[in-house]
Amino acid sequence: MAKPLLEFTDRGIYCEQGRFYIDPWKPVDDAVITHAHADHAYVGHKRYLAHHLSKEVLYYRLGEISLQTVEYGETVMKNGVEICLFPAGHVIGSAQIRISYKGEVWVVSGDYKTQEDGVSTPFEPVACQHFISECTFGMPVYQWKEQAQIFNDINSWWYSNQQQGLLTVISGYSLGKAQRILQNLDLSIGPVFTHGVIENTNEALRRNGVVLNPTTRITADTPKDEVRKGIILAPPSAIGTPWIRKFAPFSFGYCSGWMALRGAKRRRAADRGFVLSDHADWDGLMSAIDATGCEKVYLTHGYTASFTRYLNEIGFDAREVHTLYGEEEEEETHPNLPNNTPSKSPPKGETLTENGKPSDRQVSPLGEDLGGVK
Ligand SMILES: [Zn+2]
Ligand SMILES: [Zn+2]
Repeated sequence: MAKPLLEFTDRGIYCEQGRFYIDPWKPVDDAVITHAHADHAYVGHKRYLAHHLSKEVLYYRLGEISLQTVEYGETVMKNGVEICLFPAGHVIGSAQIRISYKGEVWVVSGDYKTQEDGVSTPFEPVACQHFISECTFGMPVYQWKEQAQIFNDINSWWYSNQQQGLLTVISGYSLGKAQRILQNLDLSIGPVFTHGVIENTNEALRRNGVVLNPTTRITADTPKDEVRKGIILAPPSAIGTPWIRKFAPFSFGYCSGWMALRGAKRRRAADRGFVLSDHADWDGLMSAIDATGCEKVYLTHGYTASFTRYLNEIGFDAREVHTLYGEEEEEETHPNLPNNTPSKSPPKGETLTENGKPSDRQVSPLGEDLGGVK
């Protein structure tokens, strides 16, 4: 039997025929990048290929890199292998990578969600024989509500805080969740103030031509009375730091898919938890996999063991593969999953608080919460 077009190596997903890697975690010559999150876009590759909306964020995060960008649907040839990017609906600029050669078609989906968020280009199913998928939320208990309903809850909570003279602080990681929150806040309630890490990402996206709602970066000179009239958008790593304590008293809301687990809110010390994720829920994963018409599914990160077993039971040819994906931006990661071993080095990214302390990434919900969802 001929060698498969893609293989799983200790550097990342490799296409020998095309001599390129997808989302490699060790330095390589040619890297095709699904999106700019730290567990997918590592520093140190010679050449990068990514979607054009990832451009400025990649420059901001990785510095001077040699980067070629493409639109969705545009084809790039490498040694006879066709590469084409399709929307993954995960964050702005995120892509599924379709790789084809002599009739063999693979899709590397990176991280994705099927729910439209109004900010990222909506997910598009891509037909293939081999589908490489995440399963961060690959348990039936994860069923996302309509986005409009979540933001109704968020905006009412903000409004009622304001009525009580309480400042509102809402947190989500800086690329993706922050913009999704920003674009769905009801700005008739008040203005949006941002932590520097989020504002840097907003600025990078604006340089890329993305139109975002107005924000004001909080600096040492920003009058606290002004900030109290609005809402603070901060990364999870800012919570519990002296920076945020300056604004007390406030009500703190945390947005994450893990908020669907009992105990998660308490562990995050959040006053309110909102179940909002940039990953597919159970139905989203199942519909995405079905829609590809694939023969084989490879599960990279999340509930890989149980999800693989389930797919095999219902007739797919599924297997787990080892990758370093899933240590997502401080929060969208489950500490008890096999892909999340403590031995690996933390991804580069914005995991530092303003005062340079490491982030509090370890406070994601823990295993005991899983008791009820098996
Ligand atoms: Zn991601
Ligand atoms: Zn990821």
